[in-house]
Amino acid sequence: MRTEYDAVIVGSGPNGLAAAVTLARSGLSVAVFEAEDHFGGGAATGEITLPGYLHDLCSAVHPLAFESAFFREFGLRRRVEFVVPEVSYAHPLDDRAVLAHRDLDRTAEGLGVDGRAYARLMAPLVDRVRGIADFTGGSLLRVPGDPVATAWFGLRTLEQGTPAWRMRFREQAAPALVTGVAAHTILGLPSLAAAGGGLTLATYGHAQGWPIPVGGSGAIVSALVDDIRAHGGELFAGRRIRSLDELPAARAVLLDVTPRALIEMSGERMPQRYRRRLERFRYGDAVAKVDFALSAPVPWRDAEIARSGTVHVGGTRAEIAASENAVRAGQLPDAPYVLVAQPSLFDGSRAPGDHHTLWAYTHVPAGSDVDRTETIVRQIERFAPGFRDTILATRSETAQQVAARNLNYPEGDISAGVPSLDQLIARPLLARDPWRTPMDGVYLCSSSTSPGPGVHGLGGWWAALSALRHEFGVRERPDLSARV
Ligand SMILES: Cc1cc2nc3c(=O)[nH]c(=O)nc-3n(C[C@H](O)[C@H](O)[C@H](O)COP(=O)(O)OP(=O)(O)OC[C@H]3O[C@@H](n4cnc5c(N)ncnc54)[C@H](O)[C@@H]3O)c2cc1C
Repeated sequence: MRTEYDAVIVGSGPNGLAAAVTLARSGLSVAVFEAEDHFGGGAATGEITLPGYLHDLCSAVHPLAFESAFFREFGLRRRVEFVVPEVSYAHPLDDRAVLAHRDLDRTAEGLGVDGRAYARLMAPLVDRVRGIADFTGGSLLRVPGDPVATAWFGLRTLEQGTPAWRMRFREQAAPALVTGVAAHTILGLPSLAAAGGGLTLATYGHAQGWPIPVGGSGAIVSALVDDIRAHGGELFAGRRIRSLDELPAARAVLLDVTPRALIEMSGERMPQRYRRRLERFRYGDAVAKVDFALSAPVPWRDAEIARSGTVHVGGTRAEIAASENAVRAGQLPDAPYVLVAQPSLFDGSRAPGDHHTLWAYTHVPAGSDVDRTETIVRQIERFAPGFRDTILATRSETAQQVAARNLNYPEGDISAGVPSLDQLIARPLLARDPWRTPMDGVYLCSSSTSPGPGVHGLGGWWAALSALRHEFGVRERPDLSARV
């Protein structure tokens, strides 16, 4: 390790690595320090149940991978093999399953009398998907590149994020489909931020689909790490940084950490006023996760669900809203919303022979230490009788254990800060350049900054572009493509 670099990055999640790629591609000397013994943060893959069964430790499905401006410039699709199921997500109800096909018309056909209303909800967004990605992929305070897309998006968010969400549909299937995606946000329902997040993910589902990396999310991390190394960057694992004073000298320091951690690491260096503003940043509710090794695919009552990589378990819109609102009220619902991914149906490398893996989590109040394995199994069994008999092994993580494994998920909050509307506009605080701190050369680049949670690398990319401008006088975006 050298005593001096142009730029130092703390944290090797997708945002930290995106920052490192961007800076190394600008010809700067770069070092990345990671607390864990492996790189990737929320995008790592490992054998955590039985030998030969590959599980994604955090993220599993990547709706943002194809639309992220950073990943598009990086040429992620040329570097990592993805499978894109024809059905982006499935939603079992007691009498049938509803499918979100990539094809919007096909989806609408499956929604009976509400099909046309669903198509009218989504079509303007799907037609202008790049505009939606532009608007939601950076600071919301920017002038939108596609004002028409932003206007459509705003109107639909207002409708689906308020009690007006009752107006559009007549039956159960379409509202359940829309709510299953909105519930990813771990927010009360209905709410504007949940609707905005859900509509963005649904738009991507009908545009390019919800891709799954062959071999697991770690494949995305490997592509980023390989590129950093190929351009002279150095990465150090097992190096938890507790103070900025521990770092080698550098003109720019980019931190893939929470505002709370930034306060701790900065000590007296942080101006009081900035500290007080960061202290107001709020953290949210949490997840409890269970990974399964299975002897067979999940025996869904409706076999069509096997065509989808992601399954939203929890029943009707009313049931999901009730369970999400119970979590907000600090309760553990008996019949919660469960997010399920079944990557081994599309990627044979995940489990030996004809066996399978299953990834599932449910929302719980922040800091919960309750093991939710039994509740998750019971909810899946509701729509897949016999599921229990396929289980060979499980590995459960409570919210507290999720927090202990990754410093960026305080009390199990995998969003690194509530993604409520105010905290999406001001993330981590209200500023035109929310990544830049008042400390010389210090930038925040985690998902606690705009545009928020998810594997997209955009927080790191924007922070690195800001550092290039302010610390190195470089205004040109570096070429990140796979050719260079
Ligand atoms: C269970 C779970 C499921 C998820 N599912 C999905 C999904 O399917 N799709 C999706 O798009 N997103 C998903 N996410 C969210 C996604 O993983 C995160 O939003 C994303 O990883 C955030 O990237 P990041 O770089 O900001 O932070 P992280 O990926 O959290 O990485 C931060 C890294 O910084 C390191 N670090 C922090 N502090 C220090 C320090 N002081 N010193 C050294 N290192 C430090 C941490 O160890 C960690 O490796 C999921 C997250 C979880 C936990």
